[in-house]
Amino acid sequence: MGIIDDLDALQVEALAALSAAESLDALDAVRVAYLGKKGSLTAVLRGLGALSPEERPAVGKASNEVRQALETALEARRAELSSAALEARVAAEAVDVTLPARVRPLGHRHLIQQIAAQIIDVFIGLGYRIAEGPEVELDYYNFTALNHPPEHPARAATDTFYVRDLSAGEAGSGAAPTGESDVLLRTHTSPVQVRVMERQKPPIYILCPGTVYRRDIADPSHLPQFTQIEGLVVDESITFADLKGTLDHFVREIFGPDRRARFRPHFFPFTEPSAEVDVSCGICHGAGCRFCKGTGWLEILGCGMVDPDVYAYVGIDPERYTGFAFGMGVERIAALKYNIPDLRMLLEGDMRFLRQF
Ligand SMILES: [Zn+2]
Repeated sequence: MGIIDDLDALQVEALAALSAAESLDALDAVRVAYLGKKGSLTAVLRGLGALSPEERPAVGKASNEVRQALETALEARRAELSSAALEARVAAEAVDVTLPARVRPLGHRHLIQQIAAQIIDVFIGLGYRIAEGPEVELDYYNFTALNHPPEHPARAATDTFYVRDLSAGEAGSGAAPTGESDVLLRTHTSPVQVRVMERQKPPIYILCPGTVYRRDIADPSHLPQFTQIEGLVVDESITFADLKGTLDHFVREIFGPDRRARFRPHFFPFTEPSAEVDVSCGICHGAGCRFCKGTGWLEILGCGMVDPDVYAYVGIDPERYTGFAFGMGVERIAALKYNIPDLRMLLEGDMRFLRQF
């Protein structure tokens, strides 16, 4: 039985080759060498036809046993090598949790946005709601309905950015262009107050934050574009004492309990009486220093009782309702809170400066 002996030898040789395979690729090469179409075992089976009918069953049975033994050994070795390969990959890709993390700088809101949010929080806490309106505004809402007479200096093209120049378009008028028209970049957020009063009856408690534009040259205390927050209250029995109490509370909330507020008489076209509010200097605490120009006080906002003439434009009964309004520049509040000597520093984008806040 020479063929049976050959099969035994082939099985021994193939099993040794399978266990010697060190990778899945090497294992597959062994499989092809013994069990493939041109493999050794396949060649033996092909030779069955040449055997005598007496020999055939025994050799056929033996070669099937060899094939099964090899396939079983092949699967076992494949499983071993697969799990070893997986372990190797897991080990290679493992994360070392003891490595220190790469620190990336975290972004944060710009100081102007932070202060605006703090101011808004104070008044939301008092029951105000936010009102917004267009930055490109009509002269009517920006000036006329706020009691600015036609000759008021704020209406001059030297003070206000006009969007259209009506006089330039009038052919044959002969007049030199004045730059003035009925469409402008709002100079304050007060037009939002007019728009709210037009469509809402009192009680009104609103805060109007937004960007405003004035034809100023940028310098340490002026910006041609800045962020304003105005407030408006219209209700029954509102007095100057309510205004003062509200703003005293605001100053303590924003600047801290050790800063004081004072009210000075002033004039605004749309409030009567009007006042400017100062906060005590954060550097000298009232003694006088360069930052407060020796006065001990820094101006932070304008305010007053709403002029009854304004109510006439929006159809609110001045006999029944009274109210107050106030307005402040957010950049200025930020500068005074953090003793920043020049408003332009807020807009220069110098990260060494901005990261401090
Ligand atoms: Zn001072």
